[in-house]
Amino acid sequence: MKICPVCGSANIKLDAGGYTGKYRCEDCGYVGVLILEVEEEDDG
Ligand SMILES: [Zn+2]
Repeated sequence: MKICPVCGSANIKLDAGGYTGKYRCEDCGYVGVLILEVEEEDDG
């Protein structure tokens, strides 16, 4: 899953439909190419 580097929210959307390669955080409004990607560990 992808999370916002600013607020840590997982509510991330591709900005402009992915055209710009940027992401947008729906929670804090962050827009940029830098995003944190973490692996979910639900197994186990
Ligand atoms: Zn955010």
